[in-house]
Amino acid sequence: MNFTKFPRRHYLQGPTPIEAMPSLSKVMGGEVTLYVKRDDLLPGAAGGNKTRKLEFCIADALEKGADTIVTCGAIQSNHARLTAAWSAKEGLACHLILEERVKGSYKKDASGNNFLFELLGVKSITVVTAGSDMMAQMEKKAAELTSAGKIPYLIPVGASNDIGALGYAVCAEEIMAQLNEMRLPIDHMVVPSGSAGTHAGLVVGMTGVNGGIPISGMNVSRGKEAQEGLVFDLAVKTAEKLGLGDRIKREDIVCFDQYVGPGYSLPTEDMVKAVNLFAQNEAILLDPVYSGKAAAGLIDLIRKGHFKKGSNILFVHTGGSPALYAYLDTFR
Ligand SMILES: *Cc1c(COP(=O)(O)O)cnc(C)c1O
Repeated sequence: MNFTKFPRRHYLQGPTPIEAMPSLSKVMGGEVTLYVKRDDLLPGAAGGNKTRKLEFCIADALEKGADTIVTCGAIQSNHARLTAAWSAKEGLACHLILEERVKGSYKKDASGNNFLFELLGVKSITVVTAGSDMMAQMEKKAAELTSAGKIPYLIPVGASNDIGALGYAVCAEEIMAQLNEMRLPIDHMVVPSGSAGTHAGLVVGMTGVNGGIPISGMNVSRGKEAQEGLVFDLAVKTAEKLGLGDRIKREDIVCFDQYVGPGYSLPTEDMVKAVNLFAQNEAILLDPVYSGKAAAGLIDLIRKGHFKKGSNILFVHTGGSPALYAYLDTFR
């Protein structure tokens, strides 16, 4: 795949590690062997998947002459944190629109990512009610900024458009190169599926390199049909950008919605167990909203015998550990 024709900043310092998880594999009964792609170790304040997408989105903003970034997310958004971080590094002003998806949950003095927004110097935080039209809210902010003489650039929720998703097509190519180098045959990949750019980008990239490794998305908010549709539409758009035509097949998009629990960002017992298992066996910090629920799904599927005995499974760790500090009551 040729990524050189797209504006791109240089935020990565090389491939993130692929590590074996021998202790966790053993605890899980040893029927499958678990590996992890450490995208939680990506550069950017406290790491995580949005850095790959922002290499492309912020480069596009700079190319268009922007001096200000406006983005949106949930109240503990890792995407908002990383957008604030890379904006600070690039000398761009950053404004956030945060959706209070759970009524009454926004606390100005909360810990976790919420504290980091402030520390990273965001210029404003606007909290809006659940179900608000986030694009309209961002446009409203952009209009204000424009009349104040600024040049704003909007990044959609999760940087999940066909620009940001390129970052995860890159990641698929990176993973395939590492697996070839390691001579490691992976049978299955598992990744959290939220605003869809990560999942869509990985599917596009895996198609582009003819890797043939099936990818399962673990939903964090939507039902199966809705999420698969969202991922598919974005994958098709991203594939077009990369000249992959109509090679994305609907059946390549597979999502599981059994691990969402009561809703986005709301804790589940299995998430808490998964976060503890990863911490205590592999010294890996997951997060309560995305990787923790995806890991809960991975663990359940292993227990149910979903993967063939002897399979090698790669879990894509998308980061998010700062959110743990906003969930102390859940874990103690
Ligand atoms: C945003 C995010 C995801 C989900 O990625 P999408 O591209 O939005 O689907 C997963 N894990 C973490 C930690 C995130 O912040």
